[in-house]
Amino acid sequence: MPFSALGLSEPIVKAVNDLGFTEPSPIQTQAIPIVLEGKDLIGSAQTGTGKTAAFSLPVLNGLEPGKKTQVLILEPTRELAAQVEEAIEKYSKYLDEIKVAVIFGGVKYQRQIDQLKSGVEIVVATPGRLLDHIGQGTADLSQVKVLILDEVDRMLDMGFLPDVKRIIKNCPDERQTLLFTATMPREIESLSKWVLKDPEKVEIGRSRSAAETISHAFYPVVERQKYKLLIELMSRTTFQSVLIFTRTKFNADMVSRRLERLGHSVAVLHSDRTQRERTAALADFKSGKAEILVATDIAARGLDVAGVSHVINYDVPLNPEDYVHRIGRTGRAQTEGDAFTLLTEDEVKNSKAIEHFIGQKVERKKIEGFKYMYSALFEAEEKRSAGRTTSRLFGRSGR
Ligand code: ADP
Ligand code: MG
Repeated sequence: MPFSALGLSEPIVKAVNDLGFTEPSPIQTQAIPIVLEGKDLIGSAQTGTGKTAAFSLPVLNGLEPGKKTQVLILEPTRELAAQVEEAIEKYSKYLDEIKVAVIFGGVKYQRQIDQLKSGVEIVVATPGRLLDHIGQGTADLSQVKVLILDEVDRMLDMGFLPDVKRIIKNCPDERQTLLFTATMPREIESLSKWVLKDPEKVEIGRSRSAAETISHAFYPVVERQKYKLLIELMSRTTFQSVLIFTRTKFNADMVSRRLERLGHSVAVLHSDRTQRERTAALADFKSGKAEILVATDIAARGLDVAGVSHVINYDVPLNPEDYVHRIGRTGRAQTEGDAFTLLTEDEVKNSKAIEHFIGQKVERKKIEGFKYMYSALFEAEEKRSAGRTTSRLFGRSGR
């Protein structure tokens, strides 16, 4: 089915075709007609399935230029806000009069104030900075017709719920509201009762599943050998681009420094970096100037980085949902990807939570020829795999 069959106008279909999108993804096919009808919507589909276009295209379709903020899109992180703004610029390239402003913290106010003053139809914002503008009277939401809450699960995780509620109170009651999320924790259901009116629901796939195009495995190792194993894994893998997730900023800095010393080009993304550094890191990774991006998941969730061939979890994510999100960075839009997770004894609990969450056992792998230090983890694994014809978990080469 072509995009034109969904009821989108010519300039939008043309812009999408220019991007090489030949047909709408499942969430787009289902969500676009509902949004065009003006109904409220809850859309859930795993990361990388095209949710941005699912709300942007139909919203652009009905938009009349008018210098008033008519569409407000909330995003959990600066990077996501910037990414969505860029996408909308592309989708609206044949709609000359539509202007978009992106509002987030960590940068100076003046440019944002000028932009808001000059009049924009669409605002893409992170909650904190937008609230500052509302407080200073530099943002006016009284004419908002469509409110979009994007990446809501992440927004909740990051503690933005109170901010989001305050922002919603500044929007007119009479409006269309769209909520998009990769996963559906219970808090979202209660938020949606308050924010949405009689919403339609579109849910694609099991929201807990890891993308099917990704092969993933755990690599048990003792804490002291973690970095060594990482290097070993990387040296045995042909990769174009690797995204490495760490739990802490400290580990992100440590891993990136050491990889740099080995001659890799590395970019780092975490919340202690300045906005300029974060923007540069992402740009370098996207352009291929940096072959490796080391990031904390707070900084990286939902980011669309095309062509990531490998994701490595240097630490097991504490939150099982983050596992799905992290490995969702690879295998986006139906391309193949690999995800490796280093697993230490302290993290076994987290790994079990992940397996429970995704409803699937994750294969344990050991790298042939690597001088492993003893870990009780290995015995547990041998026991688990005993009884199988061959030890599938250990005794196979790494990849
Ligand atoms: P999500 O918000 O669901 O995680 P995004 O909206 O960021 O996903 O989209 C993921 C990627 O898929 C982006 O690079 C986007 O350009 C691409 N994409 C979106 N829709 C289509 C489509 N219909 N055909 C091809 N690629 C698409
Ligand atoms: Mg998204």
